[in-house]
Amino acid sequence: MSLGDNYHRVLESIAAACAKSGRAAGDVHLIAVSKTHPVAAVDAIAALGQVDFAENRIAELADKKQSAAAKGIRWHLIGQLQTNKVKLLDADVLLHSLDRISLAEKLDQRFAALGQKVQALIQVNCSREPNKSGVALADFDALVDRLASAKNIEIKGLMTMAENSTDEKTIRSAFAELRELSHKLAARQIFTGYTGMLSMGMSGDFEYAIAEGATHVRIGSAIFGSR
Ligand SMILES: *Cc1c(COP(=O)(O)O)cnc(C)c1O
Repeated sequence: MSLGDNYHRVLESIAAACAKSGRAAGDVHLIAVSKTHPVAAVDAIAALGQVDFAENRIAELADKKQSAAAKGIRWHLIGQLQTNKVKLLDADVLLHSLDRISLAEKLDQRFAALGQKVQALIQVNCSREPNKSGVALADFDALVDRLASAKNIEIKGLMTMAENSTDEKTIRSAFAELRELSHKLAARQIFTGYTGMLSMGMSGDFEYAIAEGATHVRIGSAIFGSR
């Protein structure tokens, strides 16, 4: 199987999952997760029309962002960001992993100093696994309250990772919980730029995520192969 075949198969599966849950195919956006794979693979997939790419390490993202030959790529950071690496984040990268107040404060300071705004999603630990990243549900409101006054961060939506499980009910309940949390947050009208973006679903569970309302799925191995 070539990268192109993998890519088109993933697009077809996304379209099929949309159809199955009565959603328009254009409702769900694919983010191609290129972590650990060479920039040549990014260029190859970008040449097929793919715009959104994600990395989980900021240094690797910065490298690929610089060296990709393809134009017009939209980069996403989906892994944990240490506060001492905030300076490596550009304002045109969407951060999916805003998960704590200390990071919110560093980001707000940094982008205030630059006179820019950074766009971010709040990552929530919906699966409640102790060593999973994402803000704990119990701490979500406190993080939202702090972000409400962060003038240089624009919150667009929420992100989660489901439990690494084969049980459909377990996986879907995490995704459903994120969707409900997002509805409640949108109703509170705290963030003016909030679009209800829901980043959820990976190679193994994106069909369930689409059934539960994902707007963006983050798919790596099904496109680029195993890592
Ligand atoms: C690696 C990664 C993905 C993609 O995982 P695959 O199983 O390879 O599709 C999605 N989201 C996050 C946060 C990741 O770290």
